[in-house]
Amino acid sequence: MKEVKSPKKPLIFYYLIVLGVILLFNILVMPLLSQSQIQEVDYGTFVKMAENQELGQVEIDETRNQVLFTDKDEKVVYKAGMISDPDLAELLKESGAKYGGQIIQQTNPIVSFLLTWVLPIVIFILLGQYMNKKLMNQMGGKNAMSFGMGKSNAKIYVQSTKGLKFSDVAGEDEAKESLQEIVDYLHNPKKYTEAGASMPKGILLVGPPGTGKTMLAKAVAGEANVPFFSISGSEFVEMFVGMGASKVRDLFQQAKEKAPCIVFIDEIDAIGQKRSSGVSGGNDEREQTLNQLLTEMDGFEGNTGVIILAATNRPESLDPALTRPGRFDRRVPVELPDLAGREAILKVHAKKIKTAEDVDFHTIARMAAGASGAELANIINEAALRAVRNGRTIVNEADLEESIEVVIAGYQKKNAVLSDQEKKVVAYHEIGHALVAAMQNHSAPVQKITIIPRTSGALGYTMQVDTGDKYLLTKEEIENKIATYTGGRAAEEVVFGQITTGASNDIEQATKLARAMITRYGMSDAFDMVAMETVQNQYLGGDVSLACAPDTQKEIDRKVVDLVKKQHEKARKILEDNRDKLDSLAKYLYEKETITGEEFMRILEGGERA
Ligand code: ADP
Ligand code: ZN
Repeated sequence: MKEVKSPKKPLIFYYLIVLGVILLFNILVMPLLSQSQIQEVDYGTFVKMAENQELGQVEIDETRNQVLFTDKDEKVVYKAGMISDPDLAELLKESGAKYGGQIIQQTNPIVSFLLTWVLPIVIFILLGQYMNKKLMNQMGGKNAMSFGMGKSNAKIYVQSTKGLKFSDVAGEDEAKESLQEIVDYLHNPKKYTEAGASMPKGILLVGPPGTGKTMLAKAVAGEANVPFFSISGSEFVEMFVGMGASKVRDLFQQAKEKAPCIVFIDEIDAIGQKRSSGVSGGNDEREQTLNQLLTEMDGFEGNTGVIILAATNRPESLDPALTRPGRFDRRVPVELPDLAGREAILKVHAKKIKTAEDVDFHTIARMAAGASGAELANIINEAALRAVRNGRTIVNEADLEESIEVVIAGYQKKNAVLSDQEKKVVAYHEIGHALVAAMQNHSAPVQKITIIPRTSGALGYTMQVDTGDKYLLTKEEIENKIATYTGGRAAEEVVFGQITTGASNDIEQATKLARAMITRYGMSDAFDMVAMETVQNQYLGGDVSLACAPDTQKEIDRKVVDLVKKQHEKARKILEDNRDKLDSLAKYLYEKETITGEEFMRILEGGERA
């Protein structure tokens, strides 16, 4: 995508040149025009030179009452004030000087005015036009020299998406599925309007960098065959003051003219960050831009056919006003690819190069755990470069393996790429949670477990889905939940006899639950139905405040510890009793990286390895 530079630099340049021209005029040209090189003498000298026949040319200037004359060589010009001299005519005749002509073209006032004022302005304008032309070429034909700051010189990029299709985006099936509805709507809006349904105006693509968010947005436009407008959030704020907001206006105006279409705002967090609450004055420019965006989004109906896709890798930093209903109310996660996804991405990119017959992409994909789509594309490219370096045109397995090391070593610190041992630990940890949950029949079944590192920092997760809505929890259910939270750490203890930092979030959750049981749910014998804590601002984080004596607090803390300890022991016992299942499930997860609830139950019940 072409980038538009703000005309800031050319402007300063332009002013400097004009200033220079004017200075040059004053220093060099004006003195030449003025007559400061004329020597002034008195009338007596003139008469004496005339008498001595030393004059060259003489000019009588009666309007100014002066006489201009030169010496014989006509090199030096003299000027003398004239007094009324009746003998002047006689004197001139006898001096043998030439007279009657003009020695120096007097700079007449009009000419000097033209030179000092009009010429610089003409130069000014000509220069301006020249610069404008240059800028116009740079910007591809739009009028850049609109000096009025209010007018934005926003340039919106309509890209022919050159038939980028969903099939070009490998993996990311869930994201594609969510976006398919948009494509369907753009193809056949009638179907939706007849049913009275309106499309979400904004869809937020959330995920780590390089996972194909931009690609997906383009693919939506490509599939629906509609124009694609793209702009990056950071471009809004790089503008002159006040430009961001008008750029947003321009963008939406153009989009509405071209509807149906896709508007894609990359890095929306650059403008969509939470607005500061007034302390030390936030970034006004950004806030104005954000406000304008919100206004525009409210301003059009859901069925105008303008669909806004935005991408961010920091969804938690977005202003809540952006994510509320009617704005970016739909969120599509675009996660790091799993094993199958990585293999598919590798294959897509490998089409662009020549690979040897025996290349095993499955193995390569397995070796590149934690890599993003962009990194996988990079791995392929690095391999091709290595092949060329070695004088080959065909990429072989060794090239790919080597390039993984190059790329992984490069991003190991940035992204959580797990070592083999870590991966094993994480697999056991996650299976520990799931197994404890499954063995206590009151816990909800496991839906999906993955050990693909998440952006949140979690190295894996266990997704539990409650069957049916549940508003009431029994004491036993809460206890089981606590046991499930401790299950991860318990598995590490049982299998490795070692504990890791991977359980910090579990610890927090378990503690919260245990504490709430005692202080808010009245589920302990010691305190019965006495509230020890009250919840404040339920919609703003739900802080709790203690409402009890310091001694009671101590006792609560002790009870919380006892409660968690008891559940932790229970979890450890469950895992010890089911060690064989723990092993086979963890092995399966380690190999596949993702395990669905069904697979989990099959292995659990059958006891066989899939
Ligand atoms: P994001 O917008 O999420 O940062 P991009 O869409 O810009 O990521 O992806 C960067 C590059 O990575 C793409 O141009 C493509 O080559 C590669 N890539 C990322 N994800 C995929 C994918 N799922 N399938 C194929 N290529 C991908
Ligand atoms: Zn855990």
